[in-house]
Amino acid sequence: MNFDPSDPVNPSLRSLSRRGLLRASVAGSVAGCMAGLGASDLFASPRLGPRLPLRADRKTKHVVLVMMSGGVRSRETFGSPQQVPNLVRLAKEGVLYTRLRTANLGHFGASMSIVTGISEARGIRDNARGPDPTLFEYVRKDLDLSPQDVWIATAGGAQQVNYAYGLHADYGPRYGATTLDSDGVFNEEFKALVRQFGAPRPFDDKSSKKVDAMRAALRKAQGGGKVAAREAEAKARVERYILDELGGGTSELRGAGSSDAKALRMARNLLSVFRPRLIGVVLQDADVAHGSFNSYSEVIRRNDAAIGELVEAIRGDDELRDSTSVFVVPEFGRDSDLNTRRGLDHGDGSDDLRFVSGVAWGPDFRRNVVIKDDRRTIDFTPTIADLFGSKARLAKGKVLREIYA
Ligand SMILES: [Zn+2]
Repeated sequence: MNFDPSDPVNPSLRSLSRRGLLRASVAGSVAGCMAGLGASDLFASPRLGPRLPLRADRKTKHVVLVMMSGGVRSRETFGSPQQVPNLVRLAKEGVLYTRLRTANLGHFGASMSIVTGISEARGIRDNARGPDPTLFEYVRKDLDLSPQDVWIATAGGAQQVNYAYGLHADYGPRYGATTLDSDGVFNEEFKALVRQFGAPRPFDDKSSKKVDAMRAALRKAQGGGKVAAREAEAKARVERYILDELGGGTSELRGAGSSDAKALRMARNLLSVFRPRLIGVVLQDADVAHGSFNSYSEVIRRNDAAIGELVEAIRGDDELRDSTSVFVVPEFGRDSDLNTRRGLDHGDGSDDLRFVSGVAWGPDFRRNVVIKDDRRTIDFTPTIADLFGSKARLAKGKVLREIYA
């Protein structure tokens, strides 16, 4: 069974979907993982076929924003190029910032600041929606985008769902990002089916048979019934996403950094299937550094490899290749010196902690440019909004116009 990512509606999927095979069970599972969103929202007005840029003078139609929210020093990224070959390649083909001032030194507030473009005075224990609109809300509202156009894939943690939208009266949940946590579609109901038939790996013949068996079981469970063609097409996309997850073995990723690996894998699959306009990816595993420098280094290497996979998927896709931009930015760095556990905390106020390195890569940007002047992590939201022709009205950061070619 082969799925052509450039084919928005695989005919065999469409015929299956018409019979409503995904109607309650799987579609419900997916929807159940998405914060603040019902299945009907996701299936509303599926956008099929090639997409236009959102600004006539820009090539970018899709943006992936990767937030390294565990806290990562420049010393272990661009200061150790052999450790992050994929990030180095992105920088060579794009714009590298080596002195991005971070906004806040607690985990929650620092990443919140990246998505709001405002230095948020929030402590690590805060776990609530912020008062300010996020990048996701600006872009969705200004461009009238549907829920399936704007996503956030998180490595987990209850706090991270708060990055999807804030409480500002002019924005808020109706413009929020659709959220997937690191368990993705794998809720209990779906896991039971996977267990029953075995998780298919890449789509060789044997795996195809397993997937077919699983579909047949789902079809049987759902019964017949007519579904509008438009809805069926959207369901076909959801099914393809699920099969990509299974085929890619997302649920089987293990070990140090596996939550991050899952979030990046989900983003890759979302991009291939839904072709959303904007995906935020929130990583967190690098924070293992508090207890172990070695594990932290391993997480960084693994994140780099997963970012490489994501970018390879973009490069290998005819539609995405020349229309997708990728931004990578840590929320903050880490202390200069090891703690007594041979780990790295984040509290010494050093430049290692307060300044990070980030990358902007895409068809509209300059190539092989290094900017060593001070900029801020809160500049990314206004910049990405601008790229789309949207405006981050309340953000305090500035548009980084220097990235444009
Ligand atoms: Zn920490």
